Amino acid sequence: MNSITIALSKGRIFEETTPLLKAAGIVPLDDPESSRKLILDTNRPDVRLIIVRASDVPTYVQYGAADLGIAGKDVLYEHGGAGLYEPLDLQIARCRMMVAVQNGFDYQQAVTKGARLRVATKYVQTAREHFARKGVHVDLIKLYGSMELAPLVGLADAIVDLVSSGNTLKANDLVAVEEIMDISSRLVVNQAALKLKRAQIQPILDTFADAVRQQA
Ligand code: ATP
Ligand code: MG
Repeated sequence: MNSITIALSKGRIFEETTPLLKAAGIVPLDDPESSRKLILDTNRPDVRLIIVRASDVPTYVQYGAADLGIAGKDVLYEHGGAGLYEPLDLQIARCRMMVAVQNGFDYQQAVTKGARLRVATKYVQTAREHFARKGVHVDLIKLYGSMELAPLVGLADAIVDLVSSGNTLKANDLVAVEEIMDISSRLVVNQAALKLKRAQIQPILDTFADAVRQQA
């Protein structure tokens, strides 16, 4: 029998995916939060999970090292989606991609005046497209984390980051000024694997879809 490999990241995506996996009859035999293993066996001899960085999930699936993966729309957008089939919005890990500035910075006025904005973000591709669509000139500064700091120390006028409760922004004297897109996690499938292993993959897609409908 073919074996199926599913790529996902630990933390919120693993936690929110566990009930969906369970609905599909897949139960991991180890907990990635306590185990150091990167390959987790499951109760099903034909299904294993691999634990990778959230932003690496599309790469593993694109190259067929994983047949399926679960990744945020933010990550998929930055990756570009080559070689990936994206059949299902799992409606988990929901948040919004937003532009934020320090309290007191007049973003609308800067945009109206046609000022050149310095924008710090981990999501360079998404930010570039957003500001190009608006016709706003930006210098993008790539960061890998703690984006909230950038406006406070004069590195940037604005940031592009994920926002859920807004508490992190508030704690750092920032305000969200513009929404770029709604984010949730998606199931992605390697296009070749879907053709070659459809008999095993399709039932997983179907039970995930049912479980998402039931949680809605
Ligand atoms: P790493 O920690 O490896 O740099 P990461 O920070 O992207 O990666 P997580 O914080 O686990 O990893 O985020 C994984 C995914 O969860 C993100 O790609 C995004 O889709 C979603 N996400 C991130 N932050 C939030 C949030 N505050 N609320 C809801 N979903 C979120
Ligand atoms: Mg994180």
